[in-house]
Amino acid sequence: MNSLVQQLEQYKQEINAFVVNNADDAEVFRIKYLGTKGLIKNVMGLMKDVPAEQKKEAGLLLNEFKLFTEQKFEQLKQSIENNSEEENNLDWSLPGNIVPVGTRHPLNLVRNKIVSIFERLGFSVAEGPEIEDDWHNFGAMNLPEDHPARDMQDTFYINQNPSWLLRTHTSSVQARVMEKQKPPIRVICPGRVYRNETISARAHCFFHQVEGLYVDENVSFADLKQTLYFFVQEMFGKDVKVRFRPSYFPFTEPSAEMDISCLICGGDGCNVCKHTGWVEILGSGMVHPKVLENFGIDSNKYTGFAFGMGVERICQLKYRVNDLRLYSQNDVRFLKQFTGVV
Ligand SMILES: [Zn+2]
Repeated sequence: MNSLVQQLEQYKQEINAFVVNNADDAEVFRIKYLGTKGLIKNVMGLMKDVPAEQKKEAGLLLNEFKLFTEQKFEQLKQSIENNSEEENNLDWSLPGNIVPVGTRHPLNLVRNKIVSIFERLGFSVAEGPEIEDDWHNFGAMNLPEDHPARDMQDTFYINQNPSWLLRTHTSSVQARVMEKQKPPIRVICPGRVYRNETISARAHCFFHQVEGLYVDENVSFADLKQTLYFFVQEMFGKDVKVRFRPSYFPFTEPSAEMDISCLICGGDGCNVCKHTGWVEILGSGMVHPKVLENFGIDSNKYTGFAFGMGVERICQLKYRVNDLRLYSQNDVRFLKQFTGVV
């Protein structure tokens, strides 16, 4: 008798654990427990072995077990019906939950655009480390020991003697390219650079540059002008005019700043161009022979030009962003304005 009680308990646990997901599962349950060759039929058959004085008690137990199984079957059927009703009641035309999609950062948009323009002219992209040594950042670029840019007030030093610093321009990447590669060299170097500046609307302690370098035989200032002219036309449109102003950089000779005609007033004069009709856009020049010699490139045989521009500056002119701090504040209201810009 005790073994029958135990056996029924075990069956009950098994029945309780039975998982039904659809009508087919419920049918499996019915055949297994309630079918003509099912478990209930089997356990009912045990009655004949039960001694006569215990038959009444055993009969009650078995009936109770049968009832339990039938009730369980009804519950399972009901739950399947409820589920399918729920599915039928769903309104499939309701709008879904919108997953927020980000946009590209304006600086990345502009950098990608710059890169794609120069890639069409045969330039390839070169990258280098943001932590640099003195030689690649300053020495190789012909900046003398006492150049003010080397001052602690302008540059973030990580270590001194030997000097390790956060690169102040991407010219260090040009240095690393010339170190490894012989002319012809035609690269652009996009990347982040660091200066020890007080953060304001017009200055930041980090910003982004794209520099370019072209070294080959017979590269002239005319090549420089035409390359940069092509660039601004592709970036700002065919109507933009350019002008070059003499300048000084230790790594180029001669050097020039390039201005473009003001995009806001078209050259008539406004606040953006300080009523001159022109806005400065980049620095450029012919690579100083000493820089070439620093890398064993024969400056009598080879010449080259280099240029460098601030990505923030181009972005400012293209999208009228007037505060540098906006770029790194991660304000979604600012970033969302560039949705759809490719
Ligand atoms: Zn203007």
